[in-house]
Amino acid sequence: MKSTEIVVATGNPHKVDEIREILAVYGFRVLSLTDVGAGEIPEPEEDGETFAHNARIKATQYARAINRMVLADDSGLAVDALGGAPGVFSARWSGIGVTREERDDANNKKLLGELASVAMDRRTARFVCAMCLSAADGSVIAETVGEFHGSIGTNARGVNGFGYDPLFVVDSSCRTSAELTSQEKNDRSHRGAATRAMAKVLATHPSLS
Ligand code: IMP
Repeated sequence: MKSTEIVVATGNPHKVDEIREILAVYGFRVLSLTDVGAGEIPEPEEDGETFAHNARIKATQYARAINRMVLADDSGLAVDALGGAPGVFSARWSGIGVTREERDDANNKKLLGELASVAMDRRTARFVCAMCLSAADGSVIAETVGEFHGSIGTNARGVNGFGYDPLFVVDSSCRTSAELTSQEKNDRSHRGAATRAMAKVLATHPSLS
């Protein structure tokens, strides 16, 4: 049976919203883990050394657990002056905070501290998003990747988005990604690029239409 529904496995509601908005353009309806009654499944341990590896862990483990096709994303920030850190450790880099907002806040403070003596022209960075689409049996159907280039500002600006968005000054713009509308962010972002590449795969998959 063909369907236009696709489960996105992430505990981050911001990611679900972004992917939902992008895939809606292609006629797909995104379901969260909660939507399919799987909100209580514990998050798999993300112990991969790359974004691609972690996306594969999440997609394949959740797909097997709920026995249906699953799309997962692993993403993070790579700062050139920090040798690519925080990278795959982006979500809990500071080690501080219980809620997502507290962790984001502490991560952003740590980032400003680490770059305090780094000149503006050496604060280049990029967001990376790796996506994996897994079949219900845990076999990988497709993997995509997207990047978003910018630099790290010296103070937080903007209220949209999540994570490091208020510090990430978008290339060819004076705005941070937290100052972009969701549509503007999706048009430029790492997640937008990876999701649009995945939409092409979904469009040709026999169980989706
Ligand atoms: P994940 O859930 O392990 O993929 O963690 C991703 C982390 O990377 C988030 O918690 C954020 O700190 C950061 N991150 C990834 N994508 C974005 C984005 O679009 N904006 C801001 N921060 C992001």
